[in-house]
Amino acid sequence: MTKTLNGRAARESADVVILGAGPAGLVLGNLLQATGVDCVVLERSSRARVESRARAGFLAPNTVRILERHGLADRLRTHGHLHGSCEFRTEDVRFRLDYENLGKEERHTVYPQQNLVADLIAHYLRAGGRIHWETEALAVLDAERERPYVTARQVDGRPGRWDGRFIAGCDGRWGAARRSLPAGAVHHHHDHGVSWLGLLAEAPPSLDAVGYALHGRGFAGHMARGPQVTRYYLQCPRGTHPEAWSEERIWAELGLRMGAERHGPLTEGPILERGVVDLECDVVEPLRHGSLLLAGDAASLTAPAAAKGANLAVLEAELLAGALTDALTRGGTGALDSYSARCLAHIWRAQEFTAWMTRLLHATPDGLFHASLRRARLESLRTSRAHQDWFAENYVGV
Ligand code: FAD
Repeated sequence: MTKTLNGRAARESADVVILGAGPAGLVLGNLLQATGVDCVVLERSSRARVESRARAGFLAPNTVRILERHGLADRLRTHGHLHGSCEFRTEDVRFRLDYENLGKEERHTVYPQQNLVADLIAHYLRAGGRIHWETEALAVLDAERERPYVTARQVDGRPGRWDGRFIAGCDGRWGAARRSLPAGAVHHHHDHGVSWLGLLAEAPPSLDAVGYALHGRGFAGHMARGPQVTRYYLQCPRGTHPEAWSEERIWAELGLRMGAERHGPLTEGPILERGVVDLECDVVEPLRHGSLLLAGDAASLTAPAAAKGANLAVLEAELLAGALTDALTRGGTGALDSYSARCLAHIWRAQEFTAWMTRLLHATPDGLFHASLRRARLESLRTSRAHQDWFAENYVGV
């Protein structure tokens, strides 16, 4: 229930106040709503913005299983595409790994993150869930006490206060949850030293696999997002402005690095979106600070090289929903106490594989030694079935 105080500030309470309507916050909201736990979501952006923000697209089988288990996968099942192959290209070799036949023989589902987010919002609202759009959380206060609360600024500039028994920080790397962590929180940060120009092209995929091109001029990547839309990545110098490259230069560079002359042309089309991503990662330990709990990018950021971020977000949201439901409906605290350690085990495995992929894919300025290591690593992946099984298991798993 929202009350207006003195005609200005709003005040509302819920058992769980969720910060952020991304995959983590929305899966959590849906799962809590389904078990009858009273919750509310505060989201800084508008609904239109959140539903159109193109980011992830490769969902791991475990993510799909979680969404199916909770009745959240109907559209994903009908509109998503199964995908089980990736191709590595260098200036000398080209080989394909059909990971659907390796390791645990599993496949990704390609389904754009913005579509998943739109589905989760629709499902949550249909079930009676509450979301406050354009409401920016400013701080989480009293997390060490029984009644924590969140201060926020609403769309019209009015302040607001949301009281809860628990606060779920699902508001990403730059959100209020991270800013409100106590001094004792450990923040691991690593910069891979590489940047990508991320592009969304209105063009059908150019190959029926994820493409990873390891070229002397830098990495280039190709990932289907749908029958008419493809994501491309180009390694670029740190500090590159997203608009600095013309479309002509982008397609020329993609063609060169992906060996279009030898392997076939790329299907070109207008660039719909572009942005520069610095490949960094970080982990906050622990994920619980009293009644403030972190999930998704707020808990850990993984560089997009191995497509783990959205998958971790969904996994953590399911664990957190179970733990909060147990605590609020049955008084059980065991799952809440172990929440951080359970998530961190998955997070560090994902970080390890992401770091491995990042080192494999990128030319770095540290010369011949690193270049030779990359070549040896790639050759092992090309020729060793054991290495391929390890790759497949980590590539689709979290
Ligand atoms: P977010 O999706 O960032 O959601 C957080 C929400 O909190 C946002 O809606 C934000 O507006 C809101 N918010 C922020 N601050 C506040 C505040 N103070 N108050 C209220 N609301 C706030 N992952 C994969 O698994 N596979 C991929 O293929 C993949 N590709 C990617 C490609 C790119 C270019 C990028 C950038 C990321 C990619 N990722 C991928 C990572 C993935 O998109 C993220 O890990 C995922 O979005 C994390 O979900 P989340 O809910 O934790 O955070």
